[in-house]
Amino acid sequence: MRYFAPMSFDPELAHLGVYDARAPRYTSYPTAVHFHTDVGAEFSTEQIRTLPADRPISIYVHIPLCERLCWFCACRTQGTKNKSAIAHYLDVLLREIKMVGATLPSGVSVGKIHWGGGTPTILSPDQIRTLSTALHQMTPRHENFEFSVEIDPTLVSAAKIDALADVGMTRASIGVQDFDPRVQAAIGRKQSVETTLACVDMLRRADIHSLNMDILYGLPHQTVQTVTKTIETVLGLSPDRIALYGYAHVPWMAKRQKLISDDALPSGQNRRELFDVMASKLESAQYAPIGIDHFAKPDDAMQIAAKAGKLRRNFQGYTTDDLDTLIGLGASAISKFPNGFSQNAPKSADYADAITQGKLATYRGIATTQRDRMIARLIEMIMCDFRADFSELSQTYACEMTILAKPILQLQRDFGRYIQFSVDGFEITHHQRALARIIARRFDVYSDDTQNRFSSVS
Ligand code: SF4
Repeated sequence: MRYFAPMSFDPELAHLGVYDARAPRYTSYPTAVHFHTDVGAEFSTEQIRTLPADRPISIYVHIPLCERLCWFCACRTQGTKNKSAIAHYLDVLLREIKMVGATLPSGVSVGKIHWGGGTPTILSPDQIRTLSTALHQMTPRHENFEFSVEIDPTLVSAAKIDALADVGMTRASIGVQDFDPRVQAAIGRKQSVETTLACVDMLRRADIHSLNMDILYGLPHQTVQTVTKTIETVLGLSPDRIALYGYAHVPWMAKRQKLISDDALPSGQNRRELFDVMASKLESAQYAPIGIDHFAKPDDAMQIAAKAGKLRRNFQGYTTDDLDTLIGLGASAISKFPNGFSQNAPKSADYADAITQGKLATYRGIATTQRDRMIARLIEMIMCDFRADFSELSQTYACEMTILAKPILQLQRDFGRYIQFSVDGFEITHHQRALARIIARRFDVYSDDTQNRFSSVS
């Protein structure tokens, strides 16, 4: 099934303000800006302590350290080349892992682990092994265990990749963004094609064949010609999955982006052209679109999950992870529990202080209601499958569905041309990918004055 066509300009949507609208990417619901700072470490401890022992969990490990600080990047990262700072961070992380392990009910196993950042490959081969051993001691691995790691091609070596392969890495996510030297200079990120190619070769030699690459459109100085060349180079490396994200220019939130000149950024219309040309190239090469920003080969696990209606969304974006608990470890990491969310202290120093005092580093969180969880699933359906299934929602969640009536009426009024309604739900029929986040936002009961905190949908 084709989920969306490359977005083309539609005057009616422009009239509705769609192309200027900002909306969350909905990697969680409620979104993190609505978490409360008064929940405390006891909240997270209780959520972990009461997890069902017979359900596997996922684990996310955040390494917020980078040797380089790319200007475009909105991740919370800290630049360092100091080996003792890296060792200190790892030491604190190991303490947190022990603490969480002591709180988890016995019998809980782990189905998926993701190391992200920041730059997980800033760790040495020995540190990679130490971290993996600690995680393994915390929870045994469930059958069909998957382990993915974000790789910076400029900060990796055969020894590091061998260490990751030894400890069970099954998937690598490689940051590319763009190969054009002028674009790279404008975003403060130099990375030659040769460096990326060497990284891919090392991964494949280590028997890691499941590769994802991240590409950005909407970067300064990108043109149809430059992005065509970038995407052709990426296709030459033959990753099985590609994330094609729109660059979100939010310098009032991500301070490093102030180094990027506004004048060099493509306009809204140009962004759409850049996306169109890249998406067309990918589809011609048999990469099918998934959700609003992914493409994958037909035999890729995410493609298979999407076709089966099993695509999910979590803090890493689209995922095949359908487990209902994800424990986030490390500074700023977010945990998802069956009945709530919590986030660790964003600053590494605050995180380390809490952990060294022997308590979890919870900074904010939220306990969710049945209604929250019902709306979260509805938003996930919209973001993943461009549809809503009210029957599934009413069968799964014990809460009043009447809260959906008003946004549905508003959708019929505003977007009736693009949405096919039925008694059991709706489906976005006009292939305008920009609509998913906007439609999802119509059901977000927390959505109020936070519009400026989110990126543009186009
Ligand atoms: S893009 Fe990667 S390497 Fe660059 S600052 Fe962000 S996390 Fe660090």
